[in-house]
Amino acid sequence: MKKKRKMKKKYKITFFLVIVLICSIPLFFFLSKENKQKENPTETKDTPVINESAIEKKLKSLNYTKEEISFVLKEVKEENQDILLKEEKEVVLPIIKETYYIDDYLEKYITYYKENSDLTKKEIITRVNTHIDEPFYTNTIETDTTLGKFVLLNKYYHANETYQGKDLIKVDSQYNLYGSEFYLSKECYHAFLKMYEDALEAGYGFKINSAYRSYESQVKIYQGWVNKDGQTLADTYSARAGFSEHQTGYAFDVRDFPFTNDDYSKTKSFTWVSENAYKYGFIIRFPKDKEYITGYQYEPWHYRYCGEECAKYIHDTGITFEEYYEYFIKYKNPRGLI
Ligand SMILES: [Zn+2]
Repeated sequence: MKKKRKMKKKYKITFFLVIVLICSIPLFFFLSKENKQKENPTETKDTPVINESAIEKKLKSLNYTKEEISFVLKEVKEENQDILLKEEKEVVLPIIKETYYIDDYLEKYITYYKENSDLTKKEIITRVNTHIDEPFYTNTIETDTTLGKFVLLNKYYHANETYQGKDLIKVDSQYNLYGSEFYLSKECYHAFLKMYEDALEAGYGFKINSAYRSYESQVKIYQGWVNKDGQTLADTYSARAGFSEHQTGYAFDVRDFPFTNDDYSKTKSFTWVSENAYKYGFIIRFPKDKEYITGYQYEPWHYRYCGEECAKYIHDTGITFEEYYEYFIKYKNPRGLI
């Protein structure tokens, strides 16, 4: 009996020691880690210490909230961050919050805003993005002619005399007015044929009045208008050579057929085309009330192919191709809007 009790006691002690040993394992690991960290003080601990950077501290002192700080530091690249510190939050933050904000233009936005503080932040973004903060035909940029249906030619982007639209094919004469010879980029032509057939089926007719134009032919056309109306007036409706969208092969002009009215916007054909063109990838390239951006008067007869996604976006939002190009094509949609 005594022996049995002794054995029981022995078991109890062993059991207790095992428990103590098990419990001390995590403590052992913890202490060995602590020691390691003492040996190597640069090694980071498991729980990160929230270290406020110098820029964060400065932004805080400019009354930015925690959320605003993380927003601006995400949107503004490092080399532009000192601009944030030089400007008042009330000026710079609404600019960065604008939908089509392009970080490369931050300094330009602020400069332009200071000179035009009567404009809204949205207008500042539009004007700087489309380069109209500078007069037409100044500081022009050589356009990227590899972009196919997205090539931009306007009063800031130009091409040289060797550029011609991609995959130009002859337009079948049944689609032309006056039996002239026209060429269009293949992709644009196929979309045109679809639109033409559907319009005809719905009872609306139109024919092509002008399509691809070479650099040389634009030299002659523009000069003809300058001789007739003078350069200032001619510039409102005719492009200088190298700046005409007709050189891309993705644009054409139409007239209603059978002919009813000199003003295409007053025809039934226009009603159908203007409502449906985007479904085929076309946009009214020079819309009403956007002359200050496009540089051209309203042209209800001039259509540009940019593909269905682009045309639908422009149709739905009412932005110009200039705005679309800069944000989605040149700067590749930095905020992933589509
Ligand atoms: Zn045109």
